[in-house]
Amino acid sequence: MYLGTQDGWVEVVSGVMFSGKSEELLRRVRRALIARKRVQVFKSHLDDRYGGVQTISSHDGTRIEAVPVNTSLQIAEQVLAETEVVAIDEAQFLDRGVVRVVNDLASRGVRVIVAGTDMDFRGEPFGAIPELLAIAEKIDKLHAICVICGDPATRNQRLIDGAPAPAEGPTIQVGGSESYEARCRRCHQVPSVLREQTTLGIDASAR
Ligand code: ADP
Ligand code: ZN
Repeated sequence: MYLGTQDGWVEVVSGVMFSGKSEELLRRVRRALIARKRVQVFKSHLDDRYGGVQTISSHDGTRIEAVPVNTSLQIAEQVLAETEVVAIDEAQFLDRGVVRVVNDLASRGVRVIVAGTDMDFRGEPFGAIPELLAIAEKIDKLHAICVICGDPATRNQRLIDGAPAPAEGPTIQVGGSESYEARCRRCHQVPSVLREQTTLGIDASAR
C-alpha cells in the first residue's frame, strides 16, 4: 500500500456482482495475515449464499472465516483494541452508521477494507457505499463481464424467472446467479410498470 504503515485509512472495493470484490478482499486479508497483522473480518448476515454465515466465499469458491453482523454497531463493539486490519464484506446491506464506524477505526490507526456493490439492481447508488467511497483514501471499482455482450459489466441485472425484474421490487433481495447477472449499461434492463404508464400518458397528450 502506498500509504504510511502507521496511520489508519479506509479502502473500498466496489463494483457489480461477480466483479471479484470478495476475491480481492480475501486477497488483501490473506496478505495482511502473511504480514502477521491482527485481522478481523466481518460481513453482513444477510449474505449467506455460500456455506453458511461464518465464511466469506468468492464466486470461485475461496473462503475465509468472517463474523456475521446485523448492524454497524456490532462491528464497533467487536473490534479488539489490538486489531490492525478490519475487513467488511457486503457492506451495501449495512446501515449508514457504518460510515462513522469505519471513519473512527481509521482515525484510531486501523486499516479498514470495505467491499460492497455500489449500485442496486436499478442502477442507483446502494446504501452507504457512495458515502464510503467519498471518505475512503483508496477506492477500486471492479468490473465483471456482461453476460449478454461480453463488454465490461457495471450493472446488477435482477431476474425473475429469467426475465428482467421491475424497478418497483425491493432494493434488498439476496440472491446469486439464479437471480442476478452482471451486465453493461447498454444491456441492463429495468422495466417499470409505473414509468411505462406515465410515458404512455405523455405520448398520448403529445399527439
Ligand atoms: P463479487 O464479490 O464481486 O460478487 P466474487 O469475488 O464473489 O465477486 O466472484 C468473482 C468471480 O466470479 C470471478 O473470478 C469469476 O470466476 C466468477 N464470475 C461469474 N460470472 C462472472 C461474470 N459475468 N464476469 C466476471 N466473473 C464472473
Ligand atoms: Zn452488454
